[in-house]
Amino acid sequence: MKVLKFGGTSVGSIENIRAVLEIVKKSHAAGERPIVVLSAMAGVTNLLTRLATDASEGKDFVEGLKDMESRHFSVVKQLIAVKRQNPVFTKLKIYLNELEDLLQGVFNLRELSLQSKDLIVSYGERCSVLLVSKIAEQYFPEVAFADTTKLIQTDSHFGSAHVNQAASEQSIRMYVADNESKLLFFTGFIAANEQGRVTTLGRGGSDYTAAIIGSALGAEAIEIWTDVDGMLTADPRIVKKAFSLPVLSYTEAMELSYFGAKVIYPPTMIPAFLKKIPIVIRNTFNPEFPGTVIQHDSGKTTLPIKGISSIPAISVLNVMGGGMVGRTGFSGRLFTMLAREQINVVLITQSSSEHSITFAVHPDDAKRAKALIENEFELELQANKLSEPEIEENLSVLAIVGENMKQTPGMSGKLFHALGRNGINVRAIAQGSSEYNISVIIGRDDLAKALNAVHDAFFANLNKTLHVFNVGTGNIGATLFRQIREQHSFLLDNNDIEIKIVGISNSRKMLFDVDGIALDSWQTQLHESGEQADLAVFVSRMKQMNLPNCVFVDNTASEQPIRYYEGIFQSNISVVTCNKIANSGPYEQYRLLRDTARRHGVDFFYETNVGAGLPIVGVLRDLMMSGDRIVCIEAILSGTISYIFNNFTGDSSFYDVVKRAQELGYTEPDPRDDLRGTDFMRKMLILARDAGYPLEPEAVQLDAILPEACINAASVDDFYRELKAADAHFDALKKKAQQENSVLRYIGKLEDGKVNITLEMVDGSHPFFALSGSDNIISFTTERYKERPLVVKGPGAGAEVTAAGVFADLVNVGA
Ligand code: ADP
Ligand code: ASP
Ligand code: MG
Repeated sequence: MKVLKFGGTSVGSIENIRAVLEIVKKSHAAGERPIVVLSAMAGVTNLLTRLATDASEGKDFVEGLKDMESRHFSVVKQLIAVKRQNPVFTKLKIYLNELEDLLQGVFNLRELSLQSKDLIVSYGERCSVLLVSKIAEQYFPEVAFADTTKLIQTDSHFGSAHVNQAASEQSIRMYVADNESKLLFFTGFIAANEQGRVTTLGRGGSDYTAAIIGSALGAEAIEIWTDVDGMLTADPRIVKKAFSLPVLSYTEAMELSYFGAKVIYPPTMIPAFLKKIPIVIRNTFNPEFPGTVIQHDSGKTTLPIKGISSIPAISVLNVMGGGMVGRTGFSGRLFTMLAREQINVVLITQSSSEHSITFAVHPDDAKRAKALIENEFELELQANKLSEPEIEENLSVLAIVGENMKQTPGMSGKLFHALGRNGINVRAIAQGSSEYNISVIIGRDDLAKALNAVHDAFFANLNKTLHVFNVGTGNIGATLFRQIREQHSFLLDNNDIEIKIVGISNSRKMLFDVDGIALDSWQTQLHESGEQADLAVFVSRMKQMNLPNCVFVDNTASEQPIRYYEGIFQSNISVVTCNKIANSGPYEQYRLLRDTARRHGVDFFYETNVGAGLPIVGVLRDLMMSGDRIVCIEAILSGTISYIFNNFTGDSSFYDVVKRAQELGYTEPDPRDDLRGTDFMRKMLILARDAGYPLEPEAVQLDAILPEACINAASVDDFYRELKAADAHFDALKKKAQQENSVLRYIGKLEDGKVNITLEMVDGSHPFFALSGSDNIISFTTERYKERPLVVKGPGAGAEVTAAGVFADLVNVGA
């Protein structure tokens, strides 16, 4: 025999009821002798609760009742043959009339007791079970409607009554024995006290009904059919990557559901545990899927934890006072009193000084708990042995659960690292005495982010999602998006990384999509977006969205975004950029940004600041971090200047080479912008700073390549005229070099904490002698690389390689 319980969504619509009947038919045909327990149709319990409150406040409830009627009637019309419909309509109508009378009574009295509320709410289950059992009569020879208000006995704790297990089990057994040949449909959730007054077992209580029946009958399994693939690692409405767990122990399931996993009501586990009956959570809409088995042992698994659950709304009370707290007997008195007053304490922590106790309760209970404490400890408060209890609101509890945790060290470290890295402040911590859970109290605004971050941290075998906000959609931005799109599946398959671009802005428009902007149509989407670009708004929206593993990518060459970097780091968001301005401005700013990023445990990556995609910044960082010391750095870091001197050989004049470079698109519209060397200077400055020298931009010695007259020329045409006039000067330089078997190179050098960039002659023994095209080159002479320097060489400009560098930085974020 099996007990099959179907939840509200499973009986929520015509389609769904059909699915339920298929499952029951299959089970019946397989000889499993199913016993069915049903909840009210989806939303009906909420509706009835609201109508009851409305009536007690003198508000209209008639509309709501009509809604309830039409939902049930339409199922009758569609799933019951016309000739069988009338008696069902009549029976439903009787229920609805009773319900209307009750609501009218509440309306007249303007009073709603918990007892009346239970009675009103009980019609949800009665109507749904009536309906489904009548539908089933068409397919099964004998069907019976089993009213649990006649079978399950409870105390009078209306709203959440305690079951008298022995009495209930006996009635159930007798009833089932009397109806052996029939397919039975039980009402979930509802019961009655000794006087026969209707009670309910607490919200979500139909699961519990199923367990009570299963226990009474010694069922082989209790199947909880719902709308998800079992118990998942986290609430799938918040954590998209949550996945179904094949096996859980009763304790694990209990802890997960106690801390908010709504899929099963916590008391359900008790009767099943006592009789060792497995509970199986399955999906009505995916019946082939095996779901989750809850059983005695937690099963073999490599997962460090089983799941993460949360209670979104919690209030915390702090009780402090050197005179009382910490003394033997105080907490006993406090919590006994709260238990007596039926205040459910979700979690308790005590500070190590033992001068304060913090405990969490449901927000509705907070004020009452405070008043009760003030009453109970009135004398102590007057004597100042205790200070007035404080309430903190808008908090949530997050708990990680799993039996494996006990044997695995480092679990709490992992938890706090994930929270810390994402800037989530932990208000209090509690470890269950069972060591099967660690729970933390955090701000409610952080809950979704925390759940996702912690899920990513513990289930690292799953892909990690980076949420990227990108400003700048020029050449580099656009190329980056293309590369990300092309690499999407590779990254997922090989690196378990998924990059979602969730925000894009250029100077005109901006666009957001938490689920990731489709990268094959971002241009049109951005163009058609209704949001005008506004960097301040863009940044504050990014912070508000509060996503885990969040990265701000600055693909502009503008000063504007720099101003936001510090605040971005403070919000625990990493920055990846090809924009050099932040790092080559005042030293103070450079320092501040690095320190802020480090303090908040986030990354600030700018590999493409120097030599585009070439590994230069990273190599320097690795050398420094591994304790090497820079003796000297020599570099050619301007592609344009590199091209010009590499080609300034043979018969060509300097003028010709510059002209050709411009024609080939290697220079800025005004070639002096390259030849002045400012961009080169910035790169050298960044390297020097990264090598540990606190230099200001003015400290870089920059030898001019161009004569004064060229620099001062009024227009580009004038410049070229002056350049032609200076041919003799350049020719003389070239000749001199040729005589010495050398070539001209414009080289930046960092030595003894000083940076200068000068035009030099180098001979064949120098690594820069054979440079060609527009390549960049850099050589690091260090304590370790002393005899032969470490040289990096290759193309140091272009959208493709720069975007690739930004991409690589992105993938390294949080690595
Ligand atoms: P039913 O109406 O079938 O009783 P519930 O709404 O009570 O269904 O519970 C199922 C819902 O619980 C799922 O739709 C899911 O959104 C939610 N849920 C929350 N946490 C979890 C979790 N850890 N695993 C599975 N479902 C969860
Ligand atoms: N219908 C009840 C509720 O919504 C019981 C249940 O669904 O388990 O709480
Ligand atoms: Mg439920």
